[in-house]
Amino acid sequence: MSIWRATVLTLFPDMFPGPLGVSLAGKALASGIWALEARDIRASATDRHRSVDDTPAGGGPGMVLRADILAAAIDAADAPPALPRLLMSPRGRPLTQSGVRELATGPGALIVCGRFEGVDQRVIEARGLEEVSIGDYVLSGGEIAAMALIDACVRLLPGVMGKAESGAQESFSDTLLEYPQYTRPQTFEGRAIPDILTSGDHAKVAAWRTAEAEALTSVRRPDLWAARQLRKNTTDG
Ligand code: SAH
Repeated sequence: MSIWRATVLTLFPDMFPGPLGVSLAGKALASGIWALEARDIRASATDRHRSVDDTPAGGGPGMVLRADILAAAIDAADAPPALPRLLMSPRGRPLTQSGVRELATGPGALIVCGRFEGVDQRVIEARGLEEVSIGDYVLSGGEIAAMALIDACVRLLPGVMGKAESGAQESFSDTLLEYPQYTRPQTFEGRAIPDILTSGDHAKVAAWRTAEAEALTSVRRPDLWAARQLRKNTTDG
């Protein structure tokens, strides 16, 4: 089996591996479970100023990444045709845990990081880029978004996490938020660990955790809670 491969197109290749070079992802990178290539979009610039952007057609603030330069950078990456081609973009399909899972089971991804006001629409169409958003807020560039996506995928690759954590989970879209966690010391600034957790009664611990997770989810994420109730009703009925 070939390794999971992230090819990142960016104006700031020095940002990589960055946080992906430490802890779980970093160890997995060093041990060859996945591979990372950060390619400089500017290497595909053609003029003597090595410019990659220009002013928006129709006017408006900022600069736009040029279609011809970005297309040349994508073509130079020579990615296998089966590799998903993603563009980090606040307009994109929201990244979810099930989307992450799907990407993680594939061969990897070619990931384009935008900058400035974004990229020329024509390269998105001409190179079949699939726009992916990591949330409803605007970053200054696609690099941190790409790192978030890669990190979420890499931790699911076989051999990256311990067996305990990597056990099959529900999709995030209809599951519960996690219950509160505690560890030593037994008392912290007058706050004790809930008695049930130190009772040694595994059934009671499990019931407590479920109740806490349900309460948290219904209050903080009514969207997840509603999806879960809906799924329960369809599977029960
Ligand atoms: N003018 C654009 C924002 C450009 S932000 C707009 O209003 O839609 C510059 C770059 O940062 C984008 O091209 C994209 O690659 C990246 N980016 C910003 N926010 C993002 C998000 N929420 N998810 C993924 N990428 C994002």
